[in-house]
Amino acid sequence: MGVKLTPATSTSDESRQTHRSETQQLIAPSDTTPDSPSWSIEESEKLYRIQGWGEPYFSINAAGHVTVTPKGDRGGSLDLYELVEALRQRNLGLPLLIRFSDILADRIERLQHCFARAIARYNYPGNYRGVFPVKCNQHRHLVEELVRFGQPHQLGLEAGSKPELMIALATLKTPDALLICNGYKDREYIETALLAQRLGQNPMIVLEQLEEVPLVIETSRQLGIEPVLGVRAKLSSKGTGRWGSSTGDRAKFGLTIPEIIAGVEQLREAGMLHCLQLLHFHIGSQICAINVIKDAIREASQIYVELSLLGANMGYLDVGGGLGIDYDGSKTNFHASKNYNMQNYANDIVAEVKEACEGRNISAPTIISESGRAIASHQSVLIFNVLSTSEVSSQTPVPVQEKEHLIIRNLWETYRQINSENYQEAYNDAIQFKEESISLFNFGYLTLTERSRAEQLYWACCDKILTIARNQDYVPDDLEDLEKIMASIYYVNLSVFQSVPDSWAIEQLFPIMPIHRLDEEPTRRGILADLTCDSDGKIDQFIDLRDVKDILELHSLKPEEPYYLGLFLGGAYQEVMGSLHNLFGDINAVHIQLTPKGYEIEHVVKGDTVTDVLSYVQYDAKDLVESIRRRTEQALKANRITLKESQRLLQNYERSLSSYTYLSS
Ligand SMILES: *Cc1c(COP(=O)(O)O)cnc(C)c1O
Repeated sequence: MGVKLTPATSTSDESRQTHRSETQQLIAPSDTTPDSPSWSIEESEKLYRIQGWGEPYFSINAAGHVTVTPKGDRGGSLDLYELVEALRQRNLGLPLLIRFSDILADRIERLQHCFARAIARYNYPGNYRGVFPVKCNQHRHLVEELVRFGQPHQLGLEAGSKPELMIALATLKTPDALLICNGYKDREYIETALLAQRLGQNPMIVLEQLEEVPLVIETSRQLGIEPVLGVRAKLSSKGTGRWGSSTGDRAKFGLTIPEIIAGVEQLREAGMLHCLQLLHFHIGSQICAINVIKDAIREASQIYVELSLLGANMGYLDVGGGLGIDYDGSKTNFHASKNYNMQNYANDIVAEVKEACEGRNISAPTIISESGRAIASHQSVLIFNVLSTSEVSSQTPVPVQEKEHLIIRNLWETYRQINSENYQEAYNDAIQFKEESISLFNFGYLTLTERSRAEQLYWACCDKILTIARNQDYVPDDLEDLEKIMASIYYVNLSVFQSVPDSWAIEQLFPIMPIHRLDEEPTRRGILADLTCDSDGKIDQFIDLRDVKDILELHSLKPEEPYYLGLFLGGAYQEVMGSLHNLFGDINAVHIQLTPKGYEIEHVVKGDTVTDVLSYVQYDAKDLVESIRRRTEQALKANRITLKESQRLLQNYERSLSSYTYLSS
């Protein structure tokens, strides 16, 4: 299968910890003066760090467009910009989610391959079986493809709730694939899982709470079906990062050690201890430090061994999720990164489990992992367009005349004298003069026109200072915010709440970049503001090698030409957690598969129409139209509207109801 992995990274995370705190320099050193005529795609690669997070799937071609190589190292690529243009010609409006089925297949292959290599390398006497946690992305076409691509490896599914169990039961048709049943369970859940055995499924019921033990014993007796049971342990090993609290004594899920012992005794008394075959744990998602994973595996392996010694018929060790994604491409233990690769992960798990079992003469378990983020993140790309921008004026100011107000003359003098020696001092002066001008205005000593002049001069000072600061090796602290203050606002055709909820909710970083014009220098610095009337509906944190950037380098808009941005690695968790803020609905999605001649559109899933989102909040489109019709009749009667106007209004109203909730352009 020819899978090439990124070179093994050092696993000593301590040595990598420090470089992120040095935030002194806010400007990327690759910056050149504006209007530089030459700009290479290599500079774009470096600026957007596409090799760091995108390999082997995303890169830039000679035309300055992002290309997608969905099969990774196995070749075949697509020009993303051309693909978007072609899809738009098929009446698929933006924002648009493009799923690359081949990337999904490649991710599954990679994970399997890494475990296969680890098993070979350590001579591990057991097997590896993957399961996909459905909660990571429940969309039907995706889950169906996943099951199909995973068939050669008997990839199974993990359900964390009753609705997910329904999906898994109906979708998983691979013989011998595992169906891990997690989450809180009632009698109906347990009965359904047990009965699924009769359909040839392999449901494994993971006990998450002590109360589930008697319920399982009773249900299984009533049905006369023996369960395969697992137990989810609360480890004392600490997780890290945002999901660090998924583990530890106060974690939401799983049984403490005394509870596990109590459960074992209950099963023993019921004559069902042989049903207990699996140990499960999950220390949280996006684990960015390999030592955290190692600690957890070590503890879990010992619990596994002890459960075997207590008489349970153990055969499976399920290490849960947590395998991270390098969103910023920095290979560090920063929360948007990880200091290990997939092979390191597999190696450490296999080695630790082997050592623990060999030492105590316990046969090696089948290792299960529930990697969701690592499988689903890369497969989709979110494409959206920029509608307009708002920029701080950077025009050269008109020279000041003798008779103008003193404060304006002061600002002009400050502006004139800015140079690389005094720019910091000039910045402080400009701020002071601007504040004074506002006081003068508030007391009636400055006209509105004069205040406008003062503000323009202030922005001109900031612009000149920033241009100088960008070319310095060292930027003083008090100038750090200048880049942010001067950033343009790019209004994008998107709802952050619907399509990138984690950006808003937990400030998660995703790589975002233009998908074309990458052979042109991006001379603007901007933040993104979405369509919602919510000041939180914005993206103003971007990936960077050091820490996080407050701005994104972007191109100025060209008249009559669309400007497309792509948000990458968002295929896990974002789609389903999105919300209908301002009633922006689900977005259009397409599934693309490579063919020898190019590509094929496998499925088109149209996003919500206005009628759809209105029905979610209990409005009936017919009633709404009827109500507007009645009101136009009344207005007609009262001669407040012409017949032509009323027709126009009704047409628009009805057309809007059946249209996409986003702006068409
Ligand atoms: C969320 C979850 C996963 C998936 O975690 P990733 O970090 O996305 O791989 C796996 N197992 C359980 C029990 C989960 O709750």
